[in-house]
Amino acid sequence: MKNEQLTLDLFAPAPFDEILTGEQESKISITFSNKLKNGWYVLVKPVSGNRTLVIPSFLKHAPDSIKRALIDWTLLPRPRNKNRKKLVRKKKNELETRIWSYFQACGFQTSRTKTIEPEKIRMEAQGRRYNLQHIFDGINDTCFNGQISSLIRWGQFASTTSYQSTASDKYGREHNLITIAGVYDHPSVPEFAVKAVIHHEMLHIAIPPFRKNGRRVIHGAEFRKAEKAYEHYDQWRNWEKNALHTLARDLKRKRANKLLP
Ligand SMILES: [Zn+2]
Repeated sequence: MKNEQLTLDLFAPAPFDEILTGEQESKISITFSNKLKNGWYVLVKPVSGNRTLVIPSFLKHAPDSIKRALIDWTLLPRPRNKNRKKLVRKKKNELETRIWSYFQACGFQTSRTKTIEPEKIRMEAQGRRYNLQHIFDGINDTCFNGQISSLIRWGQFASTTSYQSTASDKYGREHNLITIAGVYDHPSVPEFAVKAVIHHEMLHIAIPPFRKNGRRVIHGAEFRKAEKAYEHYDQWRNWEKNALHTLARDLKRKRANKLLP
C-alpha cells in the first residue's frame, strides 16, 4: 500500500517551469490557449530570439516526457547547413510523433489530411489576371475598415460557385476561407465582377447567417441591403446572368477538346 502511494507521487506531472532548466527559462515562455485544441506552435521574437510556445490548456496535465518533448521542439535550431538541416528535421519528426501520440491518447483526431496551409493559399492568390489577395485587401480597406480576416483562394477550373467556409491549419487554428469560383479566373472576366463576388463573400463574414423561426437565414434583409450598396453590384448581377454560365460551358468544352493549355 505504501508503495502505491509513493508511485503516484512520483508520477504526478511537474508543471512546465519545473521542467525548464535555468538557461532555457530565460529563452522560452509558455502560453496556454483555450481556443487551440489540436496542435501547438511557437512564436519567435525576431531580435532577441525569445520563443513563446503556445499550447492547448489541457497540456498542463501532460506527463513530463511530453512536456520535455514540447520544450525540445521549441528549442530546435534553424540551421542553414544542409546536413545539419536534415538532422534537425529528423529530431523534429521524432518529437512531433511523440507529442501527437499524446494528443491521440487524449482523444484528438490526428489525421491532418483536411487541414489547410495558409502560406500556400496566400502564394496561390495570383490568378491568370487577378490577384485575389490584393483585391480582397483593397475591399477590406474601403468597405470593411480592415476588419475582415480571411484567406482567399481560387476554386476548381471553370467552377461557377463561390463560397465561404472555415478551415483549420496544422496547428489547429481556425481561419475563414473564401473560395472564388474558378470561372472568374478567366482573363475576359471584368474586374468589377471579381470585385463584387469577393465583396459578396466577405459580407458573409461580416453578416453571418442566423436562425429565424428554425430556418437558417443566409441572405437576410441586412445582407441584401449592404450588398446592393456596393458600387459594382448591379453591373455584376447583370454580368453573372448573361455571361458567367456561357463562359464556364465554353471553358469546359475547350478543355475537353484540348484547346486549352
Ligand atoms: Zn451568398
